[in-house]
Order: sequence, then structure tokens, then C-alpha cells
Amino acid sequence: MSKKDRKIILIAQCLVNPYCRVHILGQNFPLSKELTNYLMDKRVGIIQYACPETTAMGLMRNPQGRQQYDNTFFRAHCKELLKVPMLMVKEFIANNYRLVAFLGLENSPTCGIRWGKHKVNKHQTESPNAVDNPEAGESVLKGIMAEILSEELEKEGMQIPFLEFPTLSEPGSEKRKKFWEDLKKNVNPEYSFDEKEKSDDIKEVAEDMGDKGRKDKNQHDKQTK
Ligand code: SF4
Repeated sequence: MSKKDRKIILIAQCLVNPYCRVHILGQNFPLSKELTNYLMDKRVGIIQYACPETTAMGLMRNPQGRQQYDNTFFRAHCKELLKVPMLMVKEFIANNYRLVAFLGLENSPTCGIRWGKHKVNKHQTESPNAVDNPEAGESVLKGIMAEILSEELEKEGMQIPFLEFPTLSEPGSEKRKKFWEDLKKNVNPEYSFDEKEKSDDIKEVAEDMGDKGRKDKNQHDKQTK
């Protein structure tokens, strides 16, 4: 990771503000803490868009399937919410920052990236509960916001990995491990060992202090001896 590799990441709002999540699903602060601590440690700037569901339906909404959000109004709403974050992304890229990834949320009909087959009621209305044994090869869709985001990025000629935070998976599960591997690879492509990453970060901080910073520190050290 060189000094010039300045990074930003685009994330769903509830990953830094878990109160946005559907109330009955609970809010997972430890997960957000783990994620934001990691991103801050690695000096990755966070750009988030406002939660599409909260801004459309408020905090007391019930969980829904993707089908209920797949409508003209909600799509237009998502597009509108992305305007400022996309301008932010463009401004950072114009100033040589690297957009490392988009982070969505597992099983979200809005910000998820792998929405598979879900249970339906007798009226064929989709529920937020995935079918128990999905068949291999069944179609998998992005959530509505994730879909709109990929269209907006494509218009700008930007290609970035879409990752989803495995909120439903146990700590230590293969899915969690894979998520962290993918995220680390994208944040810091040329390193594979944590120790190496750590020592490189220390070097980067020292570089950022610059010559003046180092001189000031040396002087301070001498004075305090
Ligand atoms: S996944 Fe998206 S829509 Fe759902 S709570 Fe998070 S930001 Fe809001």
C-alpha cells in the first residue's frame, strides 16, 4: 500500500447506523464496530447513502420482500438518494482516490447483492424469508438500491466489487471469513498477511507526518530526555 493509494468505500447507511434497520430484525452494533474500526485503521474514507427504506417508510416499517420495493416510485427514490453520494465519489476519484468497493447487506431486498428465491403467501406476495432449500442455478438478483447503484456506476464507466456484509451468518462461519478476505483483498490488494499490512500502515503514518512532522518529533524527544 503506497502513500498514494488513498481509498474510499461506498456503504449502506445501516452499516454505520444500525438503528436504520427494520426494528424487529434488531440492530447489530458489534458488527458495525468491527467494520468501521477496520476501515478507520486502514484509512479508508466512508461514503454512505441515506437509508432508502427509512427515508421512504420510516423506522416502524415491517420487513418486506424485494417484490414490494420493486416499483417505479421506490426506484426513483433510490436514484434520487444516490445523486449526492455519486457526486462525492466522482470528486474523490478526480482527486486520485480509489473506490475500493460497495458494501451492502445480506438478505436486504434493497441493499443486498444476492437476493435469491423467497417464500410467498397464497397471493404470491413475497416474504423476507428465504426458501429453506434453494435449488442450484436459481436466479439471484441484487436488491433494488444495489441494482440502481450498479447502473449509475456503469454510466460513469466505474467497475467495483459489490460485497455484502454477512449479518445473518455466525461469527467464525465460512461466509464471514470469505467476506473479510474479500474486503481485505480489495482494500489492500498487494498484501495477504495482517502483520505485513500492520507494518505498512505504520510506515504510511510516518510518511504522512512528513519531514516537518519528523523533525518536530525528534526535537520534542530531545527536549523530553
Ligand atoms: S440494508 Fe439498506 S435499506 Fe436496509 S436498513 Fe440498511 S441501508 Fe436501509
